[in-house]
This record gives sequence, C-alpha cells and structure tokens, in this order.
Amino acid sequence: MTRFTKSFTQQEPIPEEGIEHALEVMRSGRLHRYNAVGDEYTETELLEREFAAYTGSKYCLACASGGYALHIAMRAVGVKAGDKVLCNAFTLAPVPGAIHNAGAVPVLVETSEDFTIDLVDLEAKAAPDDVHYLMLSHMRGHLVDMDRLMDICERHGICVIEDCAHTMGATWNGRKSGTFGRVGCFSTQTYKHINSGEGGLLITDDDELMARAIMLSGSYMLYGRHPAAPGRETFERIRFETPNYSGRMDNLRAAILRPQLRNLDAQCGRWNELYRVVEEGLRKIHGIRVPHRAEPEYFVGSSIQFSLPQLSAEAVCGFIQRCEENGVNIKWFGDADPKGYTSRFDSWQYFDCTQPLPKTVKVLETMCDMRLPLTFDVEDCKTIVAVIAQALDSIQG
Ligand SMILES: *Cc1c(COP(=O)(O)O)cnc(C)c1O
Repeated sequence: MTRFTKSFTQQEPIPEEGIEHALEVMRSGRLHRYNAVGDEYTETELLEREFAAYTGSKYCLACASGGYALHIAMRAVGVKAGDKVLCNAFTLAPVPGAIHNAGAVPVLVETSEDFTIDLVDLEAKAAPDDVHYLMLSHMRGHLVDMDRLMDICERHGICVIEDCAHTMGATWNGRKSGTFGRVGCFSTQTYKHINSGEGGLLITDDDELMARAIMLSGSYMLYGRHPAAPGRETFERIRFETPNYSGRMDNLRAAILRPQLRNLDAQCGRWNELYRVVEEGLRKIHGIRVPHRAEPEYFVGSSIQFSLPQLSAEAVCGFIQRCEENGVNIKWFGDADPKGYTSRFDSWQYFDCTQPLPKTVKVLETMCDMRLPLTFDVEDCKTIVAVIAQALDSIQG
C-alpha cells in the first residue's frame, strides 16, 4: 500500500527579504496605504508600480482581497444594480459573491470538457440586448481560446472582466492573462501564486476605469499620490460621484509580496515541472482523462484537474475517499453537499440559480481537483500518482 504524508495546504515560507521588509514596515509604524514620509513611495505604491510593469499594464491597484478587486472592477466598469453579468458556472464562491456585492445578477455559462468556459453557450448567452458584461474566471488556470472568446465578446459588445486568481504568470500566445479584458483581477491569498494571506491586484489600461477603482478603494482625496494611475484631470469629474468602499492593500502585505513577485516566473516554472510529472503519470492510468492544453496556452500548474469519465458519481466519491485514506487530498466540485473550498453553482442560493446547466453538472460530477504546492518535489508527485492508480484499482476491483 502506497501512502503519501505531506500536506496539500502547506505553502513555502515567505522569502527572508519579504520578512525583513515587513519588519521594517512594522518598526516604522506606517502601515496605512497613504502613510508615507514626504514624497517617498510606500510599499503598496511600489508593488502597484512593479505589478503594472510585470503585466505590461498602464495601471495597477492593490486591494484587500481578490474578491474585493472583482467587486470594484465591476463597479468601475459601470455594472449597476440588476444588471446581468455572464459568469462561468464552474468557479469559486468569491466570484458569485463579488457579483452579488455589485448588486448584479449572474447568467451562468456552461463548462467544457477541458474545464474552461463553453464558448458555444457563451455565444448564445452573450447575444441578448440586455447582456453587456462577462466575468471570466480562468478557473484552475485553464485558459480558454482567448482569441475566440474576445471575438465573441467584441461582436456582442460585451465588456470582459478577467478573474486571474489562478493565472498570475500565465499567457495566451505570449500575452499575459489579465490584459485581454478591460480589467484583470488577481488574488494574493495564500493558495494562489504569491502569498500575503489575503490580498488582490487589479490592472487596466483604461484611465477612467482606474480613476473610479482608486476612488472606490478608499483614496479620500489622495488619488494624486498613486504612481500607477492616470493624471489628476481624470479624477476631476468622477471624484464626487464615486463612493469610498475602503479596501486597498496595506504596506505590510505589499512588503511581503514584492520579493515574491520578482521570483514569480521562476516559481511558475517549478509548478509546471511538478504538473508535468503528475500529468504524465495520470495519462498512463486507464480510466483517467487529463484535459488537453492548447499550444498557445502557457499555464501555471499550481493545481491539476482530471476526470474519471467512466465512473458514476458514487464511484468517484469512493475513489476520492480511498485517495484521502492514503494521504492524497482531492477536491470534488461535483458533490451535492459542498465541502471545504468547493461549491457547485446550485449552492449559491442567494441568487435564483435554477438555470439548467446539464453540461456543467456532468463535467463536475467526475472531475477531480488537486493542489500541487511547491513544498512537493518530483518524487512526491510520483508517489501521488501511485496512490491515485492504487485507489482507482481498488474501486474498479
Ligand atoms: C481565490 C479566488 C478568487 C479571489 O479570492 P480571494 O480569496 O478573495 O482573494 C477569485 N476567483 C477564484 C476562481 C479564486 O479561486
């Protein structure tokens, strides 16, 4: 019997440089986003400038969380109460939560066999005259064909907000995820690609959108201080009509993130090395389907998804239990009773979620989702594959 003993939720420590910067911030006592001496830039301002440069965007705003960034992104593009927002049916709870927070109503779009948004269903649901927005989750790091998606959205006049919680560092045809839509949002929550416990980043090239986002994040009348922002004139009109929803990042978290950002591309490479080992191992197991990844997609394999298309929901449940007994922690979005971090669209009952989504239900029923933290090594990945093979064997008996 093969067993795995490491934790699937253990991330690497914060780099020493980040810890030192954090100590300096704490010793200074200047943690608030606008608390600077003279015209020095704060850690938050520096992080914004560096993340804008990393993504090649004009502007960046650091936020209290990824969900918060999504919320103010919607407000900043002009989503009003009651507006419809297209959204992947397969996503994580902060996404419908952000739509709810903006007073909008989700129109859920089906899921493809490769776990991306279903473009045929998107085309149909983007057509009506009262649909103007898409909140696109690159769920679990799977990038849909972005050329086709943007073509659909442009033809139907849909404004795209990208949820890049799982694609920080990823590209499509060499172009960074988060730069296709009008606005891109990232998370720096512990289980994403850079870790500040909680945190989010919003990027855009749009002057007025950025000015609104800055006002929304709680800039009082200090917007002139932002280094990764449009000029003062852009704020003249909107500064009195945009409410303050306080939620910018503080200097302590920014201090922790800056050294991690410098190391991000190298970390993405390490994730992909782990991903390839697990992927290759899983492809050899009969009964497991690993999704196809398109050639233009450079993804970040911080987690892996696969499906067991020949198994019933009960059998998948049994398989996951066997894996768990031997130390391999698999998440199941198909569970009618959602657990841990997972939840299926029909559990977002604060909305009327009665839209039929048969394709998504079917895909999620046999989909398995597993984290690959960088505290694992290649040998660990091989052990994990062995546990999975053994669990499937025992189920198929
Ligand atoms: C983590 C996550 C977010 C944002 O989460 P926060 O915890 O608010 O930073 C958004 N979308 C997806 C798909 C996520 O996994």
